[in-house]
Amino acid sequence: MALVSDIYGSMVFNEHTMQERLPSATYKKLMKTIKDGQPLDLEVANVVAHAMKEWAIEKGATHYTHWFQPLTGITSEKHDSFIDPIADGRAIMSFSGKELIQGEPDASSFPSGGLRATFEARGYTAWDPTSYAFIKDEVLCIPTAFCSYTGEALDKKTPLLRSMSAVEVQAKRVLELFGETPHRVVTTVGAEQEYFLISEKDYEKRSDIILTGRTLFGYPPCKGQELEEHYFGAIRPTVNEFMKELDDELWKLGVSAKTKHNEVAPCQHELAPIFANANRAIDENLLTMEKMKLLASHYGLVCLQHEKPFDSINGSGKHNNWSISADNKNLLDPGDSPMENVRFLVFLTGVIQAVDEYQELLRMSVASCGNDHRLGANEAPPAIISMFLGDELGAVVDALVANDEYVAPNGQEMDLGVDVLPNFLKDTTDRNRTSPFAFTGNKFEFRMPGSSVNLSDCNMVLNTAMAKSLKEFADALEGVPAAEFEMAALNYVRNTLRDHQRIIFNGDGYSDEWPEEAARRGLANHKTTADALPCFVEPKSIALFEEFGVLSETEVRSRYEVKLEKYNKLMNIEIRTMKRLTRRDYLPAINNYAAEVARSISEIRTVLPDANVTLQETRLRQLTDGIAEINTQLEELHRLHYQSLEIADEQERANMNAHVIIPVMEKLRAAVDAMEIIVERQWWPVPALNEVLFYC
Ligand code: ADP
Ligand code: MG
Repeated sequence: MALVSDIYGSMVFNEHTMQERLPSATYKKLMKTIKDGQPLDLEVANVVAHAMKEWAIEKGATHYTHWFQPLTGITSEKHDSFIDPIADGRAIMSFSGKELIQGEPDASSFPSGGLRATFEARGYTAWDPTSYAFIKDEVLCIPTAFCSYTGEALDKKTPLLRSMSAVEVQAKRVLELFGETPHRVVTTVGAEQEYFLISEKDYEKRSDIILTGRTLFGYPPCKGQELEEHYFGAIRPTVNEFMKELDDELWKLGVSAKTKHNEVAPCQHELAPIFANANRAIDENLLTMEKMKLLASHYGLVCLQHEKPFDSINGSGKHNNWSISADNKNLLDPGDSPMENVRFLVFLTGVIQAVDEYQELLRMSVASCGNDHRLGANEAPPAIISMFLGDELGAVVDALVANDEYVAPNGQEMDLGVDVLPNFLKDTTDRNRTSPFAFTGNKFEFRMPGSSVNLSDCNMVLNTAMAKSLKEFADALEGVPAAEFEMAALNYVRNTLRDHQRIIFNGDGYSDEWPEEAARRGLANHKTTADALPCFVEPKSIALFEEFGVLSETEVRSRYEVKLEKYNKLMNIEIRTMKRLTRRDYLPAINNYAAEVARSISEIRTVLPDANVTLQETRLRQLTDGIAEINTQLEELHRLHYQSLEIADEQERANMNAHVIIPVMEKLRAAVDAMEIIVERQWWPVPALNEVLFYC
């Protein structure tokens, strides 16, 4: 068996390989591009491309692809072989710098939200040298950004990178006031990925899961997650084998898969990596998702990444652990000296201001058809954004706002700015699991993102909003004499916290009182995607993205369109699947069973004319009533579905889907599920949730 240290990163063209394979002048120039963002000239690119190709071929690669993140879906790739025929009938393997730097996928089939007229269907992909190239399934994958020829971003990576630069520029201004001049400032992300594994045999019989990623029908299983035996139990042997192969494959790709465990719901699991800079971390997460799906099939399993595959048990999220770091120094770490404490408070306040000011944008960034079933469902955080700081840090903030002395847990009175704050890093005692945005010692954990989402969107929002907070701080404090800086910074922090204190909530986010309290505080509560999306195109949001060059107004509008369209398309698929399954599977099954019961009644009566068949008759009545109820809801759904398809305006259609159609879908499901528990098992056309969740 190969040592982990030998295979780790073996399929990645990382710094180590670059240094080994590139002439030192080229290596140095490439490092300038990677580390300092300097442009790459074609000459250097040619040398890099050659070395990359040689390396890839040695590892068995035959093709290359520009690997990018389109506006919908996860990742895209078009494979080109290295083959270049020569005059004598043979072929050489070639790959030029130009091919490395720029590619031209057929862009016309990717969603652009009207950005790209069909006559200008072309777009190009451009290498993102800050994320390493890697080999996957004999293909050299080059992480790229995807733009239209007029320069608009057509992908998720481009604005993420722009937002990372924005926050870097502003953070450097702030740090300079503290006398610090770091080389690089980056935001860091650690994405905890939750997922389900079910057996392929059951999956194949459940068209609802195949077509929509979730069960649209199904009476709750007899047992759910109440015993918590899954969470604490041993990992099943097959799953363990799967996880081992997954680790191996991810390690080869340099993905730092670190923790794996069972989750609360039956069949649910989680994988957490070691954090990396946001760009790399998101690439790694997308690779992880892809590998999970692929490798599950080696074990007769199917990996479900939908946010809510099963109604009655927990859904899956993807916690976005986020921080900001300057030359590997975590700026959300309280630090060991009074000055570091002040810096920490400035950055902490920046996050609080950013999250409060742009709470609706953050909520928007994680809105999706699937996540609508999860947020607010007593397991995931509610759809209201609030922040949890913990008792200790909460007390520091309260003291600042009230202009009081801070009293540490040991009773010691502290003068902020003079005394050293206790180390929150070590405090893991109070961890509020119900908060959507929780401080966890030296980073924030944003728990709203759904399991299937590309985290670029929420990080783009977070970074840009943070850039705005930091910019305001720098604008206000640049020019303040050094001797007065600390006092002025603490005053700024105090005033800003006072303005944004409403976003801090340390209580139970699942309680019934919280939505009422949140409404009193003026916090937004957008329960569905249809309600959450419009804030994207409000002047305040457009102004933010434009101010920092992250998205132009046209880009914002196109993204809003794409999100709306995707929501409506997914809803359309779910509605059609429900109708089809009801008509072709469930109604016939229930009807056949009803006929069987009717037959048995008359057969019994033939033999025993005075037999008591009340039970059978009651059952038959329940079945025929059930059929009638199903039919009523089905007809209603059908009527509303056609009505919705007439609506040309995507937002209006989304509103109808969210507020009018979903309630009818729920009624239809309830009517079918009510029959599932009385129809004899052998007549039911699909595996029940008891089987799907516990037999595999
Ligand atoms: P838990 O929250 O489950 O106790 P950890 O605190 O160990 O677990 O970390 C959860 C995730 O947060 C991991 O993926 C970890 O790498 C990531 N993480 C830790 N520190 C940072 C940081 N500074 N920035 C971003 N992510 C981080
Ligand atoms: Mg966590």
